[in-house]
Amino acid sequence: MSETYDVVILGAGPAGYVAAIRAAQLGLKTACVDNFKGKDGKPALGGTCLNVGCIPSKALLDSSRQFHNLLHGFKDHGISAAKPAIDVATMVGRKDRIVKQFTGGIAQLFKANKVTPVAGTGRLLPGRKVEVTGHDGKVSELAATNVIIATGSVPFELPGIPFDGEHIVDNVGALDFSEVPARLGVIGAGVIGLELGSVWRRLGAEVVVLEAMDSFLAAADADIAKAAKREFDKLLDIRLGAKVARAEVKKKKGKAVVEVVYADKDGEHTLEFDRLLVSVGRRAATDGVLAEDAGVRRDERGRIEVDGHCWTGVEGVWAVGDCVRGPMLAHKASEEGIAVAELIAGLPGHVNLDTVPWVIYTEPEVAWVGRTEKELKDAGVPYRVGTFPFAAIGRAVAMNEPHGMVKMIAHAETDRILGVHMVGPNVSELIAECVVAMEFKGSSEDLARIVHAHPTLSEAVHEAALAVDKRAIHKGN
Ligand code: NAD
Repeated sequence: MSETYDVVILGAGPAGYVAAIRAAQLGLKTACVDNFKGKDGKPALGGTCLNVGCIPSKALLDSSRQFHNLLHGFKDHGISAAKPAIDVATMVGRKDRIVKQFTGGIAQLFKANKVTPVAGTGRLLPGRKVEVTGHDGKVSELAATNVIIATGSVPFELPGIPFDGEHIVDNVGALDFSEVPARLGVIGAGVIGLELGSVWRRLGAEVVVLEAMDSFLAAADADIAKAAKREFDKLLDIRLGAKVARAEVKKKKGKAVVEVVYADKDGEHTLEFDRLLVSVGRRAATDGVLAEDAGVRRDERGRIEVDGHCWTGVEGVWAVGDCVRGPMLAHKASEEGIAVAELIAGLPGHVNLDTVPWVIYTEPEVAWVGRTEKELKDAGVPYRVGTFPFAAIGRAVAMNEPHGMVKMIAHAETDRILGVHMVGPNVSELIAECVVAMEFKGSSEDLARIVHAHPTLSEAVHEAALAVDKRAIHKGN
C-alpha cells in the first residue's frame, strides 16, 4: 500500500524545498522527492541553485574577485603582495564545502520541520499518486492530497555541440575546472556566460564570449546594458552578432582543443579554445515527469501550464519555479513554493511577478526591477526618468568602484515608480529598497523624502529619485 501525504513535492530546489518547509510549518504531512546526487554520489538537497548554480557560482565569483583585486585593484590602495598565485583546487574545495554546508542545512531543516525526504525520481500518475524510482532502481508509490511539481530546468544544448563534461561544458562543468584554462570560449552573453566568464577571466583565462544577438543584455534597460557593456569590455572579449555554426573537439599536438566556427557580419571565423562553456538558456525539466494520463498540460516550450496561482487545472496538482512560466530565478521559485503551500492550507498565497528583482553578479553588478524605458515607451505610458552616477557617490569612490549608475523611472502623472535599473557596486543589495518601494506602490517622491545613510551606496538610489523631479543635489539636472 502506498503511503499517503497531505503534500508530495517533486524536486528539492529553491521552489520545492521551500514549499516543503512551509507546508510542514502549516501542519501538513509532507514528503519531498528529489533525485540529485552530490559530488560524493550521495543524495543532495537544494537542486541546481545550491548544488551547481547560485551558491557555488557566488563562491567562485568571490574567490576570483579577491584574486583580481589583489592583482589589479589593491595598487591604488598602496597594498602590494609578492607573487600572487591562485590554487584552483583550494578555491574549488572551498566552494564544495560551502555547497555541502547549505545542502546539509536543508536536510537538517527537513528533519526539524518533519518533512520526509525521498531520494529518487518522481513521476505524477493520475489520481495524485506519485511513482518514485529510487537510485537503486526500486519503484514505490506515494499518494497525496496535493502534489507540487518543482522539477526545475536544465541547460539547452546547441544542435551538434553536445556537452562532454570536460571540454564542452554547461554551468556544472564550468564550476569545476581543475585548472585555469588558457583560453575559454563562452557561447551566450547571458547571466551564466557573463558570471562564469568573469570568474575564469579574473583568474587569468583569455575569455571570448560569442553572443548571437546584435544587442547586449536585451532584457535589461538599454542605458544600463550600454553602461554595463562599457565596463565588461574592460574584462571580457564580447562579440555580438556572432552566430556559432559548429564546435568540435580536435586533437592538436597531442592536446585536445575545441574548434569553434562562428559567423558575423564580416563572414566566418574560427577560434580555438581549451574549454567551451555553452550557456544559451535553460528549458523546463519536465520530460518524464508526467504520466500521459495525469491530465497536466505542457506548453510548446515544455513548461507545465499553470494559472496565476500555480494551479495546473487538475485537482490538487500545482507547479512552481523554473518548470512554469515566468523568470527562471531562485527567489521567484521560492516565493511560488510558499504561496502554493499557503493556498493548500487555505491561506491567501500570491506572487507578484511584476516586482521580481533581477540580478547579475558580475563586476560591476547589474540589477533591476519593474519595466524598462523601452517597454514603457512601447506601451505608451507617460514617464519621467532620473539617473545618478556612482562616480558622484563618495562611498563608491572611497571603495575605488565609481562605475555605473542608478536609473529610476516613474509615471509622469502619478509619480508611481515603474522600474529601477542599476549597474554598479553592490546593486544586488540596493535593488531590495526599490522592490519594497514598488510593492508598496511608492513614488519617486517617497524615496526622495526618505533619509538615506551617508556615506553609503544607497545615496545613489536617493539621488536618482530626486533626479526624477530634476532636483538631484550632487549633479546637474
Ligand atoms: P540567458 O537566457 O540569461 O542567456 C542566454 C544568452 O545566449 C542570450 O543572450 C541569448 O541571446 C544567447 N544565445 C542563445 N542562443 C545562442 C547561440 N546559438 N549562439 C550564441 N548566443 C546564443 O541564459 P543563461 O545565461 O544560460 O542562464 C539560464 C537561466 O538561468 C536564465 O534564465 C537565468 O535567469 C538563470 N540564471 C540566473 C542567474 C542570476 O539570477 N544571477 C544566474 C545564473 C542563471
